[in-house]
Amino acid sequence: MSVLKDFDPDVYQAIENEKKRQMYGLELIASENLVSEAVLEAQGSIMTNKYAEGYPHKRYYGGCEYVDVVEELAINRAKELFGADHVNVQPHSGSQANMAVYLATLQPGDRLLGMDLTNGGHLTHGSRVNFSGKLFISFGYGVNPETGLIDYDEVAAIADEFKPRLIVCGASAYPRTIDFKKFREIADSVDAYLMADIAHIAGLVAAGIHPSPIPYCEFVTTTTHKTLRGPRGGMIMSKEFFAKPIDKMVFPGMQGGPLMHVIAAKAVCFKEALTDEFKEYQKQVVKNAKTLAKVLMDNGFKLVSGGTDNHLMLVDLTDKNITGKEAEEALGKVGITVNKNTVPGETKSPFITSGIRIGTPAITTRGMKEKEMEKIGEFITETLNNLGNEQKYAQIREEVKKLCEEFMFYSV
Ligand code: PLP
Repeated sequence: MSVLKDFDPDVYQAIENEKKRQMYGLELIASENLVSEAVLEAQGSIMTNKYAEGYPHKRYYGGCEYVDVVEELAINRAKELFGADHVNVQPHSGSQANMAVYLATLQPGDRLLGMDLTNGGHLTHGSRVNFSGKLFISFGYGVNPETGLIDYDEVAAIADEFKPRLIVCGASAYPRTIDFKKFREIADSVDAYLMADIAHIAGLVAAGIHPSPIPYCEFVTTTTHKTLRGPRGGMIMSKEFFAKPIDKMVFPGMQGGPLMHVIAAKAVCFKEALTDEFKEYQKQVVKNAKTLAKVLMDNGFKLVSGGTDNHLMLVDLTDKNITGKEAEEALGKVGITVNKNTVPGETKSPFITSGIRIGTPAITTRGMKEKEMEKIGEFITETLNNLGNEQKYAQIREEVKKLCEEFMFYSV
């Protein structure tokens, strides 16, 4: 990056500092990952220069022969990876993927049923502060406050009363397997469309570690940058019957030119995801999450639902008398990045919260395994058991740094 360094040392330095932050700290934010050099190269390529409104071989601009190649590669690889009939790789983000499905299937004022934000759903699943709760009449289902699990009978009862036109399943903070077949039965019982948002678990689904929603849903949306380990962006998969309305809603309905450099990077990500190595990686993500969850529970922390089936866990700090905000800040001081998160039955504001969400995708990409999870579980425990003890923080920070140095991913 010597050109950038010379021309804009301020931006260059911020990027270098961010790289050091990523390499000398432990990234436990469940929605983040570290992409390969190949993904970075594609995303940082000259494809950023190209306008390509439309779809491969049906563009509104000339000179699209090579961007057509990457978009077709991305589409075909995604179809192979997930077994989808139709794929649109153009949404700029997960939120826009969801928006395109809603606008293609609903009219303003129609009813949308999704998972409630404080129970683990995403903003775009019907939150009042989001377009999804402003344009549509939305209602949220939660989890059982005792078990932390989705209560499918309750979802069915809510659907029966609310009569949604579209049901959204999938979450941002749910540590257990989602039963897509049950959601299909519920959707059928009220004649609703079913959309699965697999943004968080897409990598696990691609690797066959989490059951696929594809057979059960008209629509499946995802981001490409979480467990899937690609560039920041979104994607929509659908049954062939909905191919045209979905494509038309993404462009020209919602977006102009697609980000062809990001689509090139999505194609690279899907090629990586088709390898055996990627399957092994996803298996290790789950093994690591289970190990870390066990260490934390053995050390007296309460986990929502009593553990995890996937890449993340939710630590309920209520009985520790620590807020999520305090825990996030303390862990930040020792070089461990997590996010504060609401827990089922939350009593505090989203800026404070009673819990933290922890995920293993990024540290697993660095090559860390069960042995390292045990160490990390102890770092977290020591930090939270010594809240405000700066001397202790400094000591743990050194140990975190030492561990990170054994598992560098980008050269710093
Ligand atoms: N859907 C789910 C389940 C998510 O967790 C997220 C992001 O956290 C999104 C959608 C939105 O993705 P983006 O941030 O790319 O808009």
